[in-house]
Amino acid sequence: MRILGIESSCDETGVALVDAGSEGVPRLLGHALHSQIEMHQAYGGVVPELASRDHIRRVLPLTDAVLAQAGLALADVDAIACTRGPGLAGALLVGTGVAHALGVALGKPVHGIHHLEGHLLSPFLSADPPEFPFVALLVSGGHTQLMRVDGVGRYELLGETIDDAAGEAFDKSAKLLGLGYPGGPALARLAEQGDAAAYKFPRPMLHSGDLDFSFAGLKTAVLTQVKRLARAAPEGPATSRLADPLSEREKADVAAGAQAAIVEVLVKKSLAALKATGLRRLVVAGGVGANTHLRAQLNQAAAERGLRVHYPELALCTDNGAMIALAAGLRAQAGLLAADVGAGRFDVAPRWPLADLAPLF
Ligand code: ATP
Ligand code: MG
Ligand code: FE
Repeated sequence: MRILGIESSCDETGVALVDAGSEGVPRLLGHALHSQIEMHQAYGGVVPELASRDHIRRVLPLTDAVLAQAGLALADVDAIACTRGPGLAGALLVGTGVAHALGVALGKPVHGIHHLEGHLLSPFLSADPPEFPFVALLVSGGHTQLMRVDGVGRYELLGETIDDAAGEAFDKSAKLLGLGYPGGPALARLAEQGDAAAYKFPRPMLHSGDLDFSFAGLKTAVLTQVKRLARAAPEGPATSRLADPLSEREKADVAAGAQAAIVEVLVKKSLAALKATGLRRLVVAGGVGANTHLRAQLNQAAAERGLRVHYPELALCTDNGAMIALAAGLRAQAGLLAADVGAGRFDVAPRWPLADLAPLF
């Protein structure tokens, strides 16, 4: 069964084609992505209207590219999957609209997939796919959650952030250091040259006794530290361009300290979730899962305790179409895709908790 997957929830247009046999991990036949990061950079964040318009421009050429990679035609597609939510409403409407238009034209079913289910299952496309059950640490730009995963479609929320997501903490800290948008990867690069112990940063909720997170306080701590350093600079008091008076050394130390604080909380809470569930396998997904320091710390903790950690391929940590096609393929194999879905009638779900997922759709 060949499934075309379309992702358009935020600022990446992703299209992919998988072949889902009756068993085994669905095989990726083609995969193309366009990131809008450059377009949004000038505004310091994603501009929803620009995002929607760019998805419109990209989605069909990307679909052609994927089919060319696979050496197939649209007529060879058996089903279409698209991201139904969560995400930006207008952006979601582009992907789902195109998916349903294709579905009507081809007479094929269209399935609306949960974006986070895509992230969660993306490590199945890696060279070292996990087995169920496992604990999932979902760390993306908009979400930070720990989940117990017993199978496809069987997700139990164990804990989540009560304010900012981990990716947001990376991005906001980076912005305070003048590193542009989205600053997560830039902050991680800068942190490699810094001393994580130079300044003290809080480890929020580390001892809260539950599996929830909070990262808003960290952003404030970074701001306070940046202001303090800026004030100490010979240039005098900080202006609106706070980060300017910081030396490269100071910036790197702040970056390293902030990264270490975020990562320590993520690692300790993941270990606590494994302990609470009695499970021995951790799956990390979402953009922050690309972070080298997080991977190193998790790998070390796991090695010391005889635990297994699985990650998506680096290119599939952030948004992509492969994870959407894969999620649909795994659902099809598990008998969790409704057979009678009609193309043409659709909605989007900009807010859609993963724990609310109906077993069959
Ligand atoms: P969601 O999936 O919750 O809707 P999203 O799709 O925007 O959010 P992703 O695409 O999964 O999120 O991830 C983007 C986030 O990952 C950004 O916050 C980005 O800064 C962060 N990120 C990417 N690479 C790294 C890295 N190497 N280190 C830290 N953060 C990173
Ligand atoms: Mg993105
Ligand atoms: Fe995402």
